[in-house]
Amino acid sequence: MSSPSNLAELDLADLESAFAARSVERFRARQVFAWIYKRGVTDIEAMTDLPRDLRAALLADFTIATPQVASHERSSDGTEKFLLKLADGKHIESVFIPDTPAMTFCISTQVGCAMACAFCLTGKMGLVRNLTAGEIAGQVRVLAGALELRDKAFNIVLMGMGEPLHNYDAVMKAMSILCDTHGFHLPPRRVTLSTVGLLPALEKLGREELMPNLAISLHAPTDAQRGELVPINRKYGVADIIAACKQFPVRRRSRITFEYVMLAGVNDSADDARKLARLLAGVKAKVNLIPLNAAAGIPFERPADDVVDRFARVLAEQDVTVSVRKSRGRDIRAACGQLIVEGPEHSPAQKLATLAFD
Ligand code: SF4
Repeated sequence: MSSPSNLAELDLADLESAFAARSVERFRARQVFAWIYKRGVTDIEAMTDLPRDLRAALLADFTIATPQVASHERSSDGTEKFLLKLADGKHIESVFIPDTPAMTFCISTQVGCAMACAFCLTGKMGLVRNLTAGEIAGQVRVLAGALELRDKAFNIVLMGMGEPLHNYDAVMKAMSILCDTHGFHLPPRRVTLSTVGLLPALEKLGREELMPNLAISLHAPTDAQRGELVPINRKYGVADIIAACKQFPVRRRSRITFEYVMLAGVNDSADDARKLARLLAGVKAKVNLIPLNAAAGIPFERPADDVVDRFARVLAEQDVTVSVRKSRGRDIRAACGQLIVEGPEHSPAQKLATLAFD
């Protein structure tokens, strides 16, 4: 939970202000920040380059909350799934995907989700609560520590549970924490934010200094189809999303990823592919096809491989850059659509929560 005494909720500027209010020198804030993020130390007593009396004063005023690993599973393909318990007992999942092509952490931004996408069990939970900035950045701390990757380059995709733009301020503050040169020093281009397209927040995102890469969860080329799959489409339609993407300040040599969950007989025809190619004309786009990982409670089927191949071929023939997402971690239910949170706070029906596509 967010608390003024929890150092994990503070970016460096906040930490400097908190220390200044206690007449502690600014460089001490940078030292503490580096202990937490560079060295993974959350015991203030162990921050040995701080004077003993300062450590005692900090211990009296501050805590450093860290999500706890409730379980950790490793897939035969190297994917690792972490079930993390938060301070209030809620659970979230984070996934490590080893070669995608870099090492990638898939991070959650909310407990549950309000977007109610038809193919996503997280959406069936509804929104339980937003994660705090410290809980979002804390997932990275936990995974980097557990996997001994703190000193290595890794990517982050905000594609776990939740819609990141529905928790905008916490996500941007987590960016500020993670990208700080005194901490992980994560370049924003190593972060990808995936959204259903909450347009006011998307426009705001385009003006951010710490701007992540953008992925749009499109999933259908027309309002009629997308409205059935992604209910928010009734508010922010396909044409408006594409117009916003054309305005979005995409980095040089970069593209917006359009995620497209393939559902048998729903959005997987050659005609759908042609419509999608027409829709994306003039957008710096690449399409990521995600054949559904069928799961109990999801009322859709995975298309046959030749249907997926045909869809990809039609896009490629129209000069659309396309890839098919390789399913990872299916044996530990860590693939997209397969993560399951079984927290004590949920009813049996709510015990299912998939790793979402956003
Ligand atoms: S797919 Fe993403 S936005 Fe949609 S309900 Fe699931 S988590 Fe929310």
